[in-house]
Amino acid sequence: MAYDYDVIIIGSGPAGFSCAIQSSKFGKKVLIVEANPENLGGSWINTGTVPSKSLREAAKLIHKFHTQFADQEKMKPYQRFKMDDILRYKRSILSEKNRKVKSDLIKHNIETARGYGRLVDGHTVEVTLQGGQSVTYTAGFVMISTGSRPGKPEQFEIDHEVVVDYRSILELTHIPRRLVIVGGGVIALEFATIFSALGTRITILSAEKGFLPFLDDEIGAELRGILQRKTIQLTTECTIEKVEKNDFRTSMEVFYRTASEPDRLQVVETDHVLHVGHKVPNSEGLGLAEIGVVLSERKTIGVDEGFRTAVPSVFAAGDVIGFPSQASASFVQGRIAACKMFDMGEDEIAANVPYGIYSIPEIAGIGLTEADAERQGLKYKVGKISYSNLTQADIGHVDDGMLKMIFDADSLRILGVHIIGEQASDLIHLGQCVMQHGGTIEYFLKNVLNYPSYGEAYRMAAFDGLSE
Ligand SMILES: Cc1cc2nc3c(=O)[nH]c(=O)nc-3n(C[C@H](O)[C@H](O)[C@H](O)COP(=O)(O)OP(=O)(O)OC[C@H]3O[C@@H](n4cnc5c(N)ncnc54)[C@H](O)[C@@H]3O)c2cc1C
Repeated sequence: MAYDYDVIIIGSGPAGFSCAIQSSKFGKKVLIVEANPENLGGSWINTGTVPSKSLREAAKLIHKFHTQFADQEKMKPYQRFKMDDILRYKRSILSEKNRKVKSDLIKHNIETARGYGRLVDGHTVEVTLQGGQSVTYTAGFVMISTGSRPGKPEQFEIDHEVVVDYRSILELTHIPRRLVIVGGGVIALEFATIFSALGTRITILSAEKGFLPFLDDEIGAELRGILQRKTIQLTTECTIEKVEKNDFRTSMEVFYRTASEPDRLQVVETDHVLHVGHKVPNSEGLGLAEIGVVLSERKTIGVDEGFRTAVPSVFAAGDVIGFPSQASASFVQGRIAACKMFDMGEDEIAANVPYGIYSIPEIAGIGLTEADAERQGLKYKVGKISYSNLTQADIGHVDDGMLKMIFDADSLRILGVHIIGEQASDLIHLGQCVMQHGGTIEYFLKNVLNYPSYGEAYRMAAFDGLSE
């Protein structure tokens, strides 16, 4: 049967975008259906990765300027810098990224339809256009890359002005003096350190027992020290009772209890509340169950290792399939799905995937933590170095940071790398590369590394490990 397209992709975020580009490179005819009437690029460009990283970049610049010149010391960053400047900085980046995505799609002859997509069967997509009329398209394959949205709290309402979620905080028109973050996890930490760098007093109230428990213990301890020095208040095992406006004092009050003092109702006063809840997959209204696509209890779409759903012609990738719900992974998933659809290449995601947390400072890791190695009964050693030993850190007035390598005590092969500090999200790829190629920590001693650089931390950590 002749279809209109080889593949129809619903959603133009990183999973859909990379699937589209790869399919087009295979010479396939591609249609992207996107519900956002204004911009392509999904939450990657419009409401998530790029805007939050742009805000972070601006906050880092302001913080660096503010802390390194003596005359600034007595002022808070928000007394000198305005959110307007930061929003302008962010918007110029977003509009440039939007322009680039659009021109990439045009360059690759990828067609777009603006409206809501819904599957009629495994090969047919009905698109409801902005005006309400609908058009039906057919394709050999359909890719669902509809992303996710912020989950809502049960105890209070989000008005997107005073009480915001991880999308609406990106549109705040002023730098708040006080911010309470309800929720733990990576996004909470990122916003906590971004606003702290702008001078905001931060309180994190997390329901979880530990804070980012997947981190290597020493990196976690270093992080807690950094948060303390930034005077970011972190309370774990919290239950939020209510969030109320105190009209008398024109502020908000967050009422909560902790596991250690369940009988005491505590309250913290704030200007804004940021709720960071679980991501909710955008899997409803797509006609999935009707055509046999299987959903999990949490409404994520079930796929095999090639990102194929229970319906052979339908694939899914990105946040809508759940963990890890990252743009980084979504790009790879979308591309691999295209390879599987058209049986081109036998690509698979490598077993060890790094993570990057864009807090200030950054955190990144790959492979085993020390606790993992211990639990597995491995004969391992550790090499580590504090950033305070690096000339580059001295030059940049950077005090915080640590790089740690876990390696096999006999073969010296690298088992894991964990970094907290400046450029951690880039630095991790050097360790990742040596590790994925089965290299040993001797690599960092035998090869010349640029000086001064943060990469030098690898050489010093290797020295430390071997001299143990
Ligand atoms: C604050 C924040 C910071 C982040 N930072 C990072 C980071 O630093 N690094 C990182 O790797 N990841 C980061 N992420 C995660 C990243 O943004 C997401 O994992 C990624 O964008 C998911 O990509 P996706 O392709 O699944 O969907 P999305 O990017 O969410 O795109 C989905 C698209 O589908 C469209 N759509 C939905 N339903 C329909 C429909 N029925 N018909 C047509 N179109 C539809 C939507 O309009 C949207 O444009 C961050 C996320 C947030 C919220």
